[in-house]
Amino acid sequence: MNHHPAGFETLAIHAGQEPESGTGAVVPPIYQASTYKQDGVGQLRGGYEYSRAANPTRTALEECLAALESGTRASAFASGLAAADCVVRAVCVPGDHVIIPDDAYGGTLRLFTRVLERWGLATTPVPLGDLDAVRAALRPTTRLIWCETPTNPLLGITDIAALANLAAESSVLLSVDNTFASPYLQQPLTLGANIVVHSTTKYIGGHSDVVGGAVIVQDADLAERIHFHQFAAGAIAGPFDAWLTLRGVRTLGVRMDRHCDNAERIAAVLAEHPAVREVLYPGLPGHDNHDLARKQMRRFGGMLSFRVAGGERAALEVCEKTRLFTLAESLGGVESLIEHPARMTHASAAGTPMEVPADLVRISVGIENADDLIADLLGALA
Ligand code: PLP
Repeated sequence: MNHHPAGFETLAIHAGQEPESGTGAVVPPIYQASTYKQDGVGQLRGGYEYSRAANPTRTALEECLAALESGTRASAFASGLAAADCVVRAVCVPGDHVIIPDDAYGGTLRLFTRVLERWGLATTPVPLGDLDAVRAALRPTTRLIWCETPTNPLLGITDIAALANLAAESSVLLSVDNTFASPYLQQPLTLGANIVVHSTTKYIGGHSDVVGGAVIVQDADLAERIHFHQFAAGAIAGPFDAWLTLRGVRTLGVRMDRHCDNAERIAAVLAEHPAVREVLYPGLPGHDNHDLARKQMRRFGGMLSFRVAGGERAALEVCEKTRLFTLAESLGGVESLIEHPARMTHASAAGTPMEVPADLVRISVGIENADDLIADLLGALA
């Protein structure tokens, strides 16, 4: 899958992370510097001039992320939403049109509908699994299709390769938010997408201790446009944040395998539980797009949602009764989290066609002992 000769786990530890030539430090240092001495006017020693344009710690992270996504270039941002905002502004101008998912992270939908629409962008929410609906939504001004798969919080799966073909035929760019899967489980660029976006806050960072984002592409012109917009507008990842994210990414493969092991076990237990109406997890054979997920993902991930038979009140109670699963927004860290999307992460979608069910609970399955996690959920559901 990778066009790089090394395997994923090797790249995660070595790409962009050669021991430093001066000291031999095995881990890239935190270059906490804003500017760099020039030997003469315009004579840069190592290519670095000012840290909004580039910083060596950020470069190390960017090279690693580009390798892990089979891209040629990555840009690391202050947050996932800063990354998304930069992509749209780099490829669109006011008056352009973007097809957005009807199910996605609430903050992404808020960015499109409440910030970018005011800038002059037109958006149409479409169920991206329905290619005829996507085709019907295309306009002469459509520049971009924004996809998220698996989706947050309904765990819907979109066929990236099919959408990429449709986008290419229509001369439209396809951007995929790969936050839920991580590059270990899914590589959208190898399936034909033009742009991959991450909230590195989640699985890539992996320890709930840093907020960040990334954009990865293969095309050199597109990379330059994104880099220029980031440089010109300034939403960069700081050196310490880049360093923390890079520390997390080294263990991405082993963490993801354990997230998947634990989530698969929990999904099976919840699917049999009388207090649970429905489990949304692409790894379950009954999931609408289980075969598609199997085709485009290595495994099914650590995110899982379920609808509680007792309705909203019962769902809220479950969220408040777990003890190991911490009630908190966000996901993708080593520790398990639980939340109520309708009142928390997706509250901004209330009253819109993107509203999520009130009986829905979302869990981010961590890498603790699976028996402990199952006991905790069973206790909360009792
Ligand atoms: N994309 C997805 C799928 C997310 O879950 C999130 C955050 O929850 C984001 C993007 C936004 O990322 P950030 O919070 O780092 O800005």
